[in-house]
Amino acid sequence: MNKCKPISKRVVCDLCGEEYTYRKDTGGILFNSNAVCPECLPEFEKLIDKYDEGKFIRAKATKNETFYDFVLRIRSGIHLN
Ligand SMILES: [Zn+2]
Repeated sequence: MNKCKPISKRVVCDLCGEEYTYRKDTGGILFNSNAVCPECLPEFEKLIDKYDEGKFIRAKATKNETFYDFVLRIRSGIHLN
């Protein structure tokens, strides 16, 4: 018998797959439905500029907000600046 699991509190970058659940790195964005971690972001932003896809950035981590907190905030539905 399967039990329902609570909503996962694991945070993983949708680009590189790096786990951020226990990391304190700040920054990151939500691009379409993909969470992009601060480490992927510099390269990713170049692509956004290159293809003029800034409109697909749906949310950004605020200053001093960790990627982990940012992703949980988005999941909770209170987000989109
Ligand atoms: Zn990443």
